[in-house]
Amino acid sequence: MGRKKEICSFCGRENPNLFAGDRDSYICPDCIEAGHALIMKANNHQQTKFGLSLESLPRPQDIKQFLDLYVIGQDDAKKYLSVAVYNHYKRLLQPHDENEVEIEKSNILLVGSTGTGKTLLARTIAKLLKVPFAIVDATALTQAGYVGEDVESLLTRLLQDCNYNIPEAEQGIVFIDEIDKIARKSENPSITRDVSGEGVQQSLLKLLEGAVINVPPEGGRKHPEQEFLQVDTKNILFICGGAFDGIEKKIAQRMNTQVVGFEAQERAQKVDKNNLLQYIAPHDLKSFGLIPEIIGRLPIITYLHPLDKQALRNILTEPKNAITKQYEKLLGMDGVKLSFAPDMLDYVVDKAVENKLGARGLRGLMETIMIDVMYELPSKRQTKTFEVTREYAEKKIEKADFYRLKNTEE
Ligand code: ADP
Repeated sequence: MGRKKEICSFCGRENPNLFAGDRDSYICPDCIEAGHALIMKANNHQQTKFGLSLESLPRPQDIKQFLDLYVIGQDDAKKYLSVAVYNHYKRLLQPHDENEVEIEKSNILLVGSTGTGKTLLARTIAKLLKVPFAIVDATALTQAGYVGEDVESLLTRLLQDCNYNIPEAEQGIVFIDEIDKIARKSENPSITRDVSGEGVQQSLLKLLEGAVINVPPEGGRKHPEQEFLQVDTKNILFICGGAFDGIEKKIAQRMNTQVVGFEAQERAQKVDKNNLLQYIAPHDLKSFGLIPEIIGRLPIITYLHPLDKQALRNILTEPKNAITKQYEKLLGMDGVKLSFAPDMLDYVVDKAVENKLGARGLRGLMETIMIDVMYELPSKRQTKTFEVTREYAEKKIEKADFYRLKNTEE
């Protein structure tokens, strides 16, 4: 291969990975990509930075179906999220024509108790779309200049997820957990500075809305010499989640004060008092302590149901990567066919409910029950099947409780 072959006939730059044409002409991958982008643009075939086009973008029903594989229940939240995410990426793919209607960004707020699947939903969507994704905890953030992480650090996480590919990060998804914890403490704007609450909300505003932000590549202020990266958040989708403990009271208050007249009273009787979250409205978030500007930038509000026993039971066995399936697979690799007695699974659910652990506690309970099985069975070559019975599980949990009690007594 002569030197001539290493020069692209289009851009004239040297490149060792040229594609050869049939008349001594060559093209480099960069020129192919540029040409492809031009053709797509000419045909109005826009693509996201990670290759999604209008044709390949999953439709809302496809997104919901995918979520159903991993997340139990929460149909309303799934529907809202599917539509919002679909519209978000359609917005990125909209033709750039000045006379066209411009689609605005719609960040999302998920309200629901802890451990009901908020993070899981966001994570699963990111998995489907294969977009850069970051989870951050709002409680770790503080207003610039105070101890803690600056809000810009959440973009550092996003950049880290895509190897600092800025154009990709600029179309990614950020999940901000525990947004309720940065509510201001009283409904009146504070006179004193509220560093961890209102101040953080103020700093988040520009990110949610869309602005060019200077991001420290390593996060934090430990590396003052680092050069900032500029990230435009205009096309980043922010999904916020929070438990908003006690917001039901605010919802009830609002709904009560709205009940006037006979018709309204009739309507009030139809209200499902056990699940007031489903009636959540922007006004309740304001009463809870989110500033109106933040609420305005989270136009899509949806809620998650508390998980009942049946839902917890389903979580153990049904999702594509359910915990029981994972144990079966692990031991299957040792040649052991593992099974779980149905009443053993009921017992785990009862324990999770009893300890008020919700879905988050299922894994811990299963680990406690399974540790000896996982430790011993791989060495016992003659064991080919093993059923985890209720009695077995009870023994393991009681033993663990016993030790825990003993430790706290000491
Ligand atoms: P949240 O963000 O609402 O506090 P997570 O999404 O982090 O809760 O849920 C914690 C864990 O509980 C998840 O990793 C998952 O294993 C399980 N889980 C919670 N809700 C569901 C659900 N609806 N379907 C399946 N698993 C769930």
